[in-house]
Amino acid sequence: MNLGDTMIKIESICKKYGNQFAVNNVSLEIKSGEVFGFVGPNGAGKSTTIKAILNYIFLDNGSITVLGLDAVKDNVEIKQHVAYVPSEVNFYPMFTAFELINLSAKAHGVQDDTMIDVLCRDFQIDKHKKLQDMSLGNKKKVAIACALIVKPKILIMDEPTSGLDPLIQKVLFSYIKKLSREGVATFISSHNLKEVQDHCDR
Ligand code: ADP
Ligand code: MG
Repeated sequence: MNLGDTMIKIESICKKYGNQFAVNNVSLEIKSGEVFGFVGPNGAGKSTTIKAILNYIFLDNGSITVLGLDAVKDNVEIKQHVAYVPSEVNFYPMFTAFELINLSAKAHGVQDDTMIDVLCRDFQIDKHKKLQDMSLGNKKKVAIACALIVKPKILIMDEPTSGLDPLIQKVLFSYIKKLSREGVATFISSHNLKEVQDHCDR
């Protein structure tokens, strides 16, 4: 994948709940190596757009391609290359951080215990702790590690910094910057303008 290739292309998508638009005619394109900040107030339609990219919801109109593949038809193939951090983390509560990160790695054909340890060190994750015993912010860090371990071509994060302390936010953006240099496209939704201004290309 060369720098500058189109990684996500969204064309005129619409999604209605009842007769209310959640997303009304959104188009955008994200290139490899780009850190794209998707900004809007609460309820603007950020999460709905993200769910459409991941094929978690059905659109009323428009189309999306990811890595040149159709977001609906080629959904399974796309998932091999895309990592997602949801805005609300609902992982199996009985699993430890290590078990979840390892599961995520294995699901993507990655076997890298060293990287799990590095991620747990950098994000200050207690890998032997169960998710049910963690605070929201700590669960979020596990979700981020689960995404980073799969070595994705596209990283989609829905308000990843909410609940994270400033130190860990800094760690996250340094990872994103490194991935960007390797050609990974990062899609970050946020309502924090300062954060987007400081860390996103567009
Ligand atoms: P954001 O992530 O930007 O805060 P959302 O994409 O979650 O916004 O929501 C956009 C709009 O769609 C909001 O008005 C929200 O209430 C509505 N919405 C989102 N999901 C649903 C749903 N499953 N059912 C009904 N309305 C929804
Ligand atoms: Mg949202």
